[in-house]
Amino acid sequence: MPIKLYNTLTRKKEEFRPRKKGKANIYTCGPTVYWYQHIGNLRSYIFSDILKKVLSYNHFKTRQVMNVTDVGHLTSDADTGKDKIEEAARKEGKNAQEIADYYLNIFKKDLKKLNISKPDIWAKATDHIKEQIELIKKLEKKGFTYKTKDGLYFDTSKLKDYGKLARLNIKGLKAGKRISIREKKNKTDFALWKFSEKPGTRQQEWNSHWGVGFPGWHIECSAMSIKYLGEQFDIHTGGEDHISVHHTNEIAQSESATGKKPWVKYWLHGAFLVFRGEKVSKSKGGLYTLSQLEKQNFESLSYRYLCLNTHYKKRLEFSIKSLESAQNTFNKLKNIITELKTKKDSKGNTKEYREKFLNAINDDLNIPKALGIFWNALKDKNLGSRQKYELALEFDKIFGLSLKELKSQTPQTIPKEIQQLAEQRQKARAQKDFTASDKLRKKLQSLGYTIEDTKKGPFVKKI
Ligand code: AMP
Ligand code: ZN
Repeated sequence: MPIKLYNTLTRKKEEFRPRKKGKANIYTCGPTVYWYQHIGNLRSYIFSDILKKVLSYNHFKTRQVMNVTDVGHLTSDADTGKDKIEEAARKEGKNAQEIADYYLNIFKKDLKKLNISKPDIWAKATDHIKEQIELIKKLEKKGFTYKTKDGLYFDTSKLKDYGKLARLNIKGLKAGKRISIREKKNKTDFALWKFSEKPGTRQQEWNSHWGVGFPGWHIECSAMSIKYLGEQFDIHTGGEDHISVHHTNEIAQSESATGKKPWVKYWLHGAFLVFRGEKVSKSKGGLYTLSQLEKQNFESLSYRYLCLNTHYKKRLEFSIKSLESAQNTFNKLKNIITELKTKKDSKGNTKEYREKFLNAINDDLNIPKALGIFWNALKDKNLGSRQKYELALEFDKIFGLSLKELKSQTPQTIPKEIQQLAEQRQKARAQKDFTASDKLRKKLQSLGYTIEDTKKGPFVKKI
């Protein structure tokens, strides 16, 4: 059965046909490591993880490269402002590399907690300065660049199809030239190499024949993807915010340097996590990190469970309430699975469920639908415990909820009323209503149950 993916480039759902049979080469725009990744950032990596898992489930051999931006990302996407890493280093009194290593490490731990599988290759921008300079030289030779006081720029007017990914209205942009573009020839032109304002004052700078400086933000992704995946490859992923500037510029650089089109066959973009209608963004403080949610007694995987309930192309409105409800449903699911594991009854056929499941995940990663199919199977009276458990393990190859690792010594034959009381107590705690939560704990005790607040969330036991 074919996999269909929504391609931002064509604005259509298309059958996935890789360049090389049986292989899927993927480049994922990774984190800028000057601060913690917030749960919005993490949503976009849950999406690329699901993509990889669906491809593997369909027997494609995936190869994923993820970049780590540790230089060159300025506070404004228009090549102005301060370098985010240098700025963080100054504020925290550390050096730039310490900052990058520290936040990258935390990011890697978060990926693990969320069962997001590692990329095959981590590519740090500062480890690939030579490759970036080489690519810029190619662009220079072909006449796509010009120099200004503050850097070397890409001349976007040299490309007929500049802006095709975002369907930018270039004429409209030209008409609106009132916005200051400094020495740039066109508003959409972007920096390939920025000069250090005063050489010797930045922590991260390199020599080049254009002058001492550092690479522009976009060039790293072109240089590193071409290095590891070739001049043309299958899939590029990122958040929806990257369509109009970052990915548009990546395409311009890569296709101009190699002369090969298309550079990337399928462009996939994950929608934002929003809070009270606004994009969750690092520069505005970032809402929650995963560790902050853990401190509120949520399991990391409950956040993954929450994300599975919304299609990756739909914005997800986050609230603590919705996370609580995800945690409760996830707890119920785990209880059901641990119970199924101990039972031996067997009846019915899983074929239909498997087919429906495959249809859903291959239809542009429709995970919410796949989850619904899974819950229907669990409730199906015509299926035995063995069949249900088997399906759980099979489907969890995509969901990534560690259902196989659930311990069978936690036979949660906890009555529904008790479970409900425990959930009410968890809500009270999350709302910091400790009087109510204490009352509920006492009530549970009087009914013969106790609650332990473990790292993985509250755990109800018979006394
Ligand atoms: P950054 O570290 O800022 O470069 O962002 C890392 C990734 O997170 C990029 O793919 C962004 O598009 C994505 N991203 C940023 N904010 C959000 C958000 N609120 N929801 C989902 N993805 C986001
Ligand atoms: Zn990128």
